[in-house]
Amino acid sequence: MGNTPHVLVIGGGPGGSTTAALLARAGIRVTLLERDQFPRYHIGESLLASGLSTLRLSGAYDAVAAHGFQVKRGGFFEWRNDVWRLNWAELVAADAQSWQVDRAAFDDILLRNATAQGVEVIEQATVREVIFDGAERPTAVEWTKAGDDQTLTTSFDFLVDASGRAGLLSRRHFNMRRPLPDLQNIAIWSYWTGARLHPESPEGAINVVSTEEGGWFWHIPLADGRFSVGYVIAASRAAQMRAEHGSDAAYYDYMLRNSPGMSQRLAGAQQVAEVRVEQDYSYVSERFCGPGYAIVGDAAAFLDPLLSTGVHLATYGGLTAAAAIATSLRGEMAESDALDFYEYTARRAFGRFLSLVTRMYRDYIGSAEYFSHARRLTNEHSSDTAQESFTRISAGLTDVVETSGQAERVGTDTIVAEVENHQPDQEGNIRYMGGLDMSVVWDHWRDPLGPDSAMDGLRITTEPVLGLTRRPRTDAEISAIARPVVPPTAPGLH
Ligand code: FAD
Repeated sequence: MGNTPHVLVIGGGPGGSTTAALLARAGIRVTLLERDQFPRYHIGESLLASGLSTLRLSGAYDAVAAHGFQVKRGGFFEWRNDVWRLNWAELVAADAQSWQVDRAAFDDILLRNATAQGVEVIEQATVREVIFDGAERPTAVEWTKAGDDQTLTTSFDFLVDASGRAGLLSRRHFNMRRPLPDLQNIAIWSYWTGARLHPESPEGAINVVSTEEGGWFWHIPLADGRFSVGYVIAASRAAQMRAEHGSDAAYYDYMLRNSPGMSQRLAGAQQVAEVRVEQDYSYVSERFCGPGYAIVGDAAAFLDPLLSTGVHLATYGGLTAAAAIATSLRGEMAESDALDFYEYTARRAFGRFLSLVTRMYRDYIGSAEYFSHARRLTNEHSSDTAQESFTRISAGLTDVVETSGQAERVGTDTIVAEVENHQPDQEGNIRYMGGLDMSVVWDHWRDPLGPDSAMDGLRITTEPVLGLTRRPRTDAEISAIARPVVPPTAPGLH
């Protein structure tokens, strides 16, 4: 198509900039349109260990590692009557780590990396309309530059919507975003100096402290000495309490002072920023892709931040989407087959975290039961303890291991059986997995990996270039499918 960019990406957050950088590195021409001028503020500071392998692949790792973000080596949860010390070095791998990041700086590094990899990045560029070819395939976008009334049109071969919660395709064009009724929460947060972590926290760990009214605090150390301190609670409860206390800020202050765990952590500390509020509601789109487009990150689905999963889901989704798009644009595989792989793996990751998060909110009866549920979602036969299984999933590593073909996709039977056996309550509501009619998520847990499936044996490869590859299974592997193996250490992609 002449000089037309091959791929147009809407949005320069972690999802968009990662997808764009990976595609550019795979030799594809990419244009990225971002509404804001970076660096720009964004909430979502606690990253999972899984992100490191994606950062290496996108080329951003060195700049992120050199920036001096707070190193994070796990989590410390005071949840109901339990205390969990999730030390990644002990439970996952000696060198497992990530960072607690100032998102303005982190997202800026990722966007500049996209430019360095050859992406044409245009900031202050707002996409107004997506033009379709009459059927379902997008062919062009109309966009405007800040301060200029002129509408510009850019056409493309493939569109990636990474517009975050704005959800250009899923919300505006297709109206297919479905809320998760049981996770309709809000978040109220601010920044503090002079605070401390629980003394038994792993290095730089996120501290999570639950409250008796069913909410929870995040307490995240940042490199400049500030702490991000936020409270997540059901939106209905917040509305009631806001009325009682007069404002969100007063309610936030009241909850902090009445939490023994948070009072200890904030003793002598100073609040150094205004209180911010976000309707932190969770949702999932009916489709993550279609002819000529993929929807990545928050634009596709958002899960309550209890397990700090947002950036992982956005960048992991960016990786699997880029592999699928590159493969199909090179003509190595039918577009619909390649995109099926993206849809399947992205929903699978979302569904597994959703299962854990919902269980923590609703069905929590103690860490032993909770961790053994996590174990069923990974591999009942591995040598991992239940707590190791939970930690591996919650560090984002199970997703990466499965997609890279280092382990069979596991846990499928467990989650399908759990969902199918869960009956609606008397009002007909499904009180599980966020209360949503979960066909949009669990259909992708029915294992489509049989020999007739287009996805049989598919995995991501990076050699010699990013894409999908079919790994023919040997007889021994086929007979071993019932006994999947999760590797003992953190993965890298091959
Ligand atoms: P975004 O980062 O939102 O990027 C989308 C980009 O698209 C934006 O820069 C926007 O300007 C641009 N855009 C939108 N519309 C247009 C348009 N029309 N044209 C051009 N550009 C457009 N995640 C974690 O990993 N850890 C956490 O601890 C965590 N805590 C959170 C706490 C709260 C209260 C909330 C609400 C979220 C939290 N998250 C957390 C989630 C995380 O912030 C998001 O999942 C993550 O930012 C998703 O990345 P993204 O690239 O999909 O979207």
